[in-house]
Amino acid sequence: MYSITKEVYFCYGHRLMNHPGKCKNIHGHSVKAAITLEAERLNGQGMVCDFSDIAAASAEFIDAELDHNFLLHQDDPLVEMLRQANERFMVLREHPTSECIAKLIYDFIQAKGYPVREVTLWETASSCASFREVRHA
Ligand SMILES: [Zn+2]
Repeated sequence: MYSITKEVYFCYGHRLMNHPGKCKNIHGHSVKAAITLEAERLNGQGMVCDFSDIAAASAEFIDAELDHNFLLHQDDPLVEMLRQANERFMVLREHPTSECIAKLIYDFIQAKGYPVREVTLWETASSCASFREVRHA
């Protein structure tokens, strides 16, 4: 099995409702997402996928939707305040954790038809969260 990993960097703001600690406050992160694709066979160019292709595909979602955006849970009272202030934000059904954001990126890359294996989101230099689907033999 071959695999490749492309790293992409972006920033976002969020807060985690009901968090007992400081994550309940509005704050932001400058993050790295590591997108791993895998394939049993290489393509005609001897690759799993061209790195620039996965960069371009992920940019369609990350640059357009996540980068420099403010991510909020749908029940967060800030949603209505930001809407009234005509601010840019993204509403999520889940809490905007690094786990949830990793899955959002995974789902987008998969929907574009790429053989994504895993997405890891590094929220800080020492903390990351990953999403991958369980595969049954
Ligand atoms: Zn945070």
